[in-house]
Amino acid sequence: MSTLVPITVAHGDGIGPEIMEAVLFMLKEAGARIAPETIEIGQSVYLAGHSSGIAPESWESLRRTRVFLKAPITTPQGGGYKSLNVTIRKSMGLFANVRPNLAMAPYVHTHHPSLDIVIVRENEEDLYAGIEHRQTDDVFQCLKLISRQGCERIIRYAFEYARANGRKKVSCFSKDNIMKMTDGIFHKIFNELAPEYPEIQADHYIIDIGSALIADQPHRFDVIVTSNLYGDIISDIAAQVAGSVGMAGSSNVGEHCAMFEAIHGSAPDIAGKGIANPSGLLNGAFMMLTHIGQNDVAERLHNAWLCAIEEGIHTGDIASADYTTQKVGTMAFAQAVVERLGKTPTKFKPASYGGTSAGITIPPLRPYTPAAKRFYGVDVFLHERTMNAEEIGHKLEQLVAPPFRLKMISNRGANVYPGGMPETFCVDHWRCRFVHTDDEGTITHGDVLALLNSINDAGFDFVKTEHLYFFNGERGYALGQGQ
Ligand code: NAD
Repeated sequence: MSTLVPITVAHGDGIGPEIMEAVLFMLKEAGARIAPETIEIGQSVYLAGHSSGIAPESWESLRRTRVFLKAPITTPQGGGYKSLNVTIRKSMGLFANVRPNLAMAPYVHTHHPSLDIVIVRENEEDLYAGIEHRQTDDVFQCLKLISRQGCERIIRYAFEYARANGRKKVSCFSKDNIMKMTDGIFHKIFNELAPEYPEIQADHYIIDIGSALIADQPHRFDVIVTSNLYGDIISDIAAQVAGSVGMAGSSNVGEHCAMFEAIHGSAPDIAGKGIANPSGLLNGAFMMLTHIGQNDVAERLHNAWLCAIEEGIHTGDIASADYTTQKVGTMAFAQAVVERLGKTPTKFKPASYGGTSAGITIPPLRPYTPAAKRFYGVDVFLHERTMNAEEIGHKLEQLVAPPFRLKMISNRGANVYPGGMPETFCVDHWRCRFVHTDDEGTITHGDVLALLNSINDAGFDFVKTEHLYFFNGERGYALGQGQ
């Protein structure tokens, strides 16, 4: 008799308690070797004054079990409430979001019956790091932070996932034709790691055409790996195209912990009626079972679920005149699944978890030798409403002194001094680039402070600086448009 694996369970809000009850019932009947312990999350916890939707004492259970099966919650309207999902992802280091999307035609309507895509999305950084500032009257900024380690971990995870699940191809989505540094490092690390997985094909798509192809030719894709914002968007496109927003599950996985859930929300419009479809959370539970090494249970339960769907036993959200034989509520659907345990679907391809190992472990990060860094210049951002580019340029030329020279001024990235175009529309936010007079020269922090003092003395309002470095001789900043 094997020991039970403790898991933390939260019943959530809206339809959450109904679908969680159904899923725990199916897990129990399928012989899942788990010991669930319950914590409270969501609306009641928010309203009790915990701004992140989870009480401090609940962390103890999560830290101990490291496995979280979570029902959807309702985020209260109004300010001051933090996203529970973001809090949990960040606190537990859940760097990978995995969203399988599978068409279930003809039972679930889709124009693309062959769609079978797993999206692996980086979860912790990119524009979602939440570092935003208002810098001037006109300009608001959100920092896009991409780290070498963040790229390596998520790209490794995608290849290891593909290997563990018998997937054939991993596609990288990025926009490095425009964002050459942030998206560039993502694509570069993808290219470096792909050869370590020779049995898996690797290719790359620019995010815009890649997204269009998911909507139009999804059969092209198998596993897709991408950064946080793009992943958020394409996960929903893929789920929608599969027709299965109400059926899809998701996992958020880190080195030490993992969270499993449905992708849909708490559906307050149908809460308490006993009609919600528990399939999304059940799909999350399949991923949980493989994470804790209970592939046998995942396979049995998954096949029983496929049997129920193909036999036309459907909840109202997927019921249709053509394919539904029995329209059922939440618990009746769960009962129908349980009655089919041990059966194999005949119309759907049977689920097979044989090749999946317990969880996915990624190799340690590759060794890295810090680069030789040369400090070459500084971008000083000014808040200036009254002067134009020429006037700012001339005034700065008067104050700049060696080791600096004024290289250029740009406005929203477009070069406006020297030699700007009169047509360029300008706002009150000017990026003034000062570099060493010698192309091979090195400036110091003291030089930057002296420059800022002169800029301040001249009456300019500087709102931010960015340093210009070379790393092992390679430029560590983008040129201005038109520079
Ligand atoms: P929703 O996903 O809850 O509902 C959208 C539509 O789909 C509704 O008509 C609903 O009835 C239907 N639906 C969703 N799940 C269903 C199911 N299992 N069975 C049958 N029908 C289902 O999205 P929403 O209405 O935009 O959001 C409601 C609440 O959920 C909001 O408070 C939102 O913040 C929250 N939310 C939570 C999560 C989460 O906890 N992970 C995710 C998304 C939204």
